[in-house]
Amino acid sequence: MNVTIFGTGYVGLVTGACLAEMGNRVVCVDVDEDKVRRLKQGEVPIFEPGLEPLVHRHAADGLLEFTTDPGPAVIRADLIFIAVGTPPDEDGSADLRYVLAVARTIGRHLQHYSVIVDKSTVPVGTADRVREAIQAELQVRSAEISFDVVSNPEFLKEGNAVVDCLRPDRIVIGSSSARAVEVLRKLYAPFNRNHDRMVVMDERSAELTKYAANAMLATKISFMNEVANIAERVGADVELVRKGIGSDPRIGYDFIYPGAGYGGSCFPKDVQALLRTATAEGYDARLLHAVETVNQSQKERLFQILSRHFQGDLKGRCIAVWGLAFKPNTDDMREAPSRTLLAALWQAGATVRAYDPEAMDEARRIWGERADLQLCASADEAVQGADALVIVTEWKVFRSPDFTRLRQALAAGVIVDGRNLYAPEVVEQAGLAYYGIGRGRSL
Ligand code: NAD
Repeated sequence: MNVTIFGTGYVGLVTGACLAEMGNRVVCVDVDEDKVRRLKQGEVPIFEPGLEPLVHRHAADGLLEFTTDPGPAVIRADLIFIAVGTPPDEDGSADLRYVLAVARTIGRHLQHYSVIVDKSTVPVGTADRVREAIQAELQVRSAEISFDVVSNPEFLKEGNAVVDCLRPDRIVIGSSSARAVEVLRKLYAPFNRNHDRMVVMDERSAELTKYAANAMLATKISFMNEVANIAERVGADVELVRKGIGSDPRIGYDFIYPGAGYGGSCFPKDVQALLRTATAEGYDARLLHAVETVNQSQKERLFQILSRHFQGDLKGRCIAVWGLAFKPNTDDMREAPSRTLLAALWQAGATVRAYDPEAMDEARRIWGERADLQLCASADEAVQGADALVIVTEWKVFRSPDFTRLRQALAAGVIVDGRNLYAPEVVEQAGLAYYGIGRGRSL
């Protein structure tokens, strides 16, 4: 099928590459000229395991193209995906500016029936607004062209996006048009062979499904951080509690890890957007408020632990930080807990030596040159001459360091394990002070 995708970010580029992998002819459109130029030259601007070979293969066989010119891309398409960003507006609600700009572009160029598929995460009712925006442009042209707008929220996880896209655990389709659902059934058939993963529903339910999924996952994280904070006060170890509750299949082991708070481009903004949606309808979503509040304070936890250890005086201290990305296997630092930590450290007069396996370019882009930040080439280099080490992102390479060498490198001999990667007694045996999250030792 001929597929056009607006937005070549994490969602658009991965979707485009995976649809090309199934033999579709895909054109990716973006307004970012530099991004499109780099993609045309074979440079993949984001780090996502398995993405680069797919992009290279299908750019070479002609199934995947990149352009900034929307007109021809709309005209050729059987399906048009909207996969542009929906960042938070000033009041936390989703900013639909980019989605509606794409809708108007589609309306200006549409020549024949197409299915417009909204993959961006958008508030309930957006499919109607997209439909109206396209219709308004058609009216300007006095064109009578039929089209359908479908909500098809994306559930891929950054760091595992290609696998998630090729083997989705569900494909949610929100549409009241049998014709559009048939087109999507055909498109997704190769992803749907093993068993039927398609869940067809109305548009509004599909739009809410995406927010409900992310809010549920954020709730699990904040819940576990809440338990960790209680564990610290009562002298319990949340890691044992985690295993104890995870064994109940109704709870499960997934997504109940305490840590430095959730970040990334989705959970923070989607929880906020759902809160705003509820508020706009006159409903006070108390649980969602609590999820967000717990997360805000959890992001400050690593700094608090350090500050307490150094008796509130971090001025002139040098802190090594392992992990800047908001989670492993990505270079994405949007809303990452590392950003809260570094801002607080700088505010307190400390300097930072940081290392991340993939996010160094992104860190350079965000912070540029600063006297109080040394971006290091390796985990080893980051700890040299530092007073303390903080683990912020649970990359596999940080899982089993040589603690004896760390003791020699770290002047004040302190490890703050923001992801509970290490056994406290092993770290302490090497002569280091250990602080985890919710392990009865951090207060
Ligand atoms: P992103 O910021 O990585 O990419 C968005 C892209 O859209 C950018 O390249 C931007 O230049 C482009 N763009 C903006 N306006 C455009 C226009 N008018 N025409 C063409 N391109 C345009 O965003 P993302 O992380 O891929 O997220 C996209 C959407 O998918 C968001 O709504 C997000 O909430 C949702 N989502 C993201 C993830 C994720 O893990 N990143 C997962 C599921 C859903």
